[in-house]
Amino acid sequence: MRSVTKKVFIKDRYVSASWSYQFRQLLEYKASMKQSLVITVPPQYTSQMSPKCGHIDKSNRNKKLHLFCCKNCGYQSNDNRIGAMNLFKKGLNYIEEHSKEVAE
Ligand SMILES: [Zn+2]
Repeated sequence: MRSVTKKVFIKDRYVSASWSYQFRQLLEYKASMKQSLVITVPPQYTSQMSPKCGHIDKSNRNKKLHLFCCKNCGYQSNDNRIGAMNLFKKGLNYIEEHSKEVAE
């Protein structure tokens, strides 16, 4: 697994978005060194949702073949990659919401 974090610069600090619990401790350690914030996103439906159209369906994912195929738009990819993409998106959404709170 490469590039598990995305760093976003908000105001005067870097924010790290993570899509894996496994890396959380390492990230928190790194974050404490750099005075950054680590966000962990709950992995709900992340391997069932189309990253292209947002359609959620259990049958979108073929666990045996590790293949994701959206029943709505036909988007295809590796199922774990889909999960990572969706978690990543959720993380970015969280950051956006959080950054608005900070701005107000
Ligand atoms: Zn779709």
